[in-house]
Amino acid sequence: MKQNIMQKVKIPTTYLNLSYYLNKYVHELPAPPLDPKTKQPIGPAALARLFPMELIKQEVTLDEFVPIPDEVRELYAMYRPSPLLRAKRLEEALGTPAEIYFKYEGVSSVGSHKLNTALAQAYYNKREGVGMLTTETGAGQWGSALALACKLFDLKCKVFMVKSSYEQKPYRKTVMHLYGADVSASPSRETQAGRSFLAKDPHTPGSLGMAISEAIEVAATTDGAHYALGSVLNHVMLHQSIIGLEAKEQLAREGAYPDVIVGCCGGGSNLAGVSFAFLADKISGKKPNLRVVAVEPDACPSLTKGEYRYDSGDTAGMTPMLKMYTVGSDFVPSPIHAGGLRYHGDSPLISFLYYKKLIEAVAYGQREVFEAAQLFAQTEGIIPAPESAHAIQQVIVEAKRAKEEGKKKVILFNLSGHGLLDLGAYEEFLSGRMKG
Ligand SMILES: *Cc1c(COP(=O)(O)O)cnc(C)c1O
Repeated sequence: MKQNIMQKVKIPTTYLNLSYYLNKYVHELPAPPLDPKTKQPIGPAALARLFPMELIKQEVTLDEFVPIPDEVRELYAMYRPSPLLRAKRLEEALGTPAEIYFKYEGVSSVGSHKLNTALAQAYYNKREGVGMLTTETGAGQWGSALALACKLFDLKCKVFMVKSSYEQKPYRKTVMHLYGADVSASPSRETQAGRSFLAKDPHTPGSLGMAISEAIEVAATTDGAHYALGSVLNHVMLHQSIIGLEAKEQLAREGAYPDVIVGCCGGGSNLAGVSFAFLADKISGKKPNLRVVAVEPDACPSLTKGEYRYDSGDTAGMTPMLKMYTVGSDFVPSPIHAGGLRYHGDSPLISFLYYKKLIEAVAYGQREVFEAAQLFAQTEGIIPAPESAHAIQQVIVEAKRAKEEGKKKVILFNLSGHGLLDLGAYEEFLSGRMKG
């Protein structure tokens, strides 16, 4: 059994659109984004202030496949196809009969899956004549990805970074600066939204919801600027589908197909990425028993404890209202280290799948997640991003259950990024100072 199953698969030429398969739920599904003021479905014209037309089309398309532009595929070749690896030594350490495979997105130039959509978004904006992109970032992974993508397509990049991460993770700021982006801690004094958040609480650690409000305000008030979002929206899920398309082909070469797929879930993009190519089989009836599990932190439990309803994507109420599982757009999660999982809502697609019980969700505390990360580092060598470590914790639970049941099941998970810029968090864990 080869442990690195990278050989021979090609970078896909199209993304896979799960909405095509969900069309059979058409009587329930169209829960379109609503205008925050009128509460009426929002039209393409209103979105065009923030996004290029091609991405707006991708947001609503029901085509099964969407072509990947050659320019984007060429840049993907810097790091794709990403390896599919078998976690043999983790299996042995757990004494499990389960086979554990993982897709490793930490090989991307910026260390996470976020570059898959950053490159596509920068490309479509550039092609429509945009000169600058604004965005928010939590832990800094999305900001780094967009900063690099903007540099490669010669766009300016302005990033609002959640203040608690800005302070805890200074090196991500350095990465963004190195790629040429302008970075501010959010909430900042540069925007009306930022100033109003600070007036309410001068010591707020910030949140993704606040940073999104600031980034949108700058995009909406600056000529030639657009806004880019690193998760949640349908077009982001679409771009990330490349992960599962590759994984499916890589696993097929081993004659394997997953019984269970696990991904951590902040906005839902890496989970969508690894699972959608397989969920297409479940929804179309070919693999009815496939399980997909979303893993979130218990500090921000949007799927496991949230409500399924329309909510704003940001704190100031500037984004379209999205139908999603949410803990509330004014929720400020405690500053845990998995910054990328601190979003109050979830992608409308992931939310719908959860609502229809096509996927499951679980939540874990920080310390058990870091224990799982340490076991993974000590067996497989890779130090996972704290976000990805949530998936590993659930994989360990699944593998132990397989052992108890004496079942040989195939587990696939997404290792969405590496944790080499998260050593401060690991230091806190090792010293015993980490909170639950
Ligand atoms: C951003 C991020 C996440 C969380 O975002 P999703 O959209 O849920 O994938 C998870 N892992 C890593 C490494 C990230 O950078």
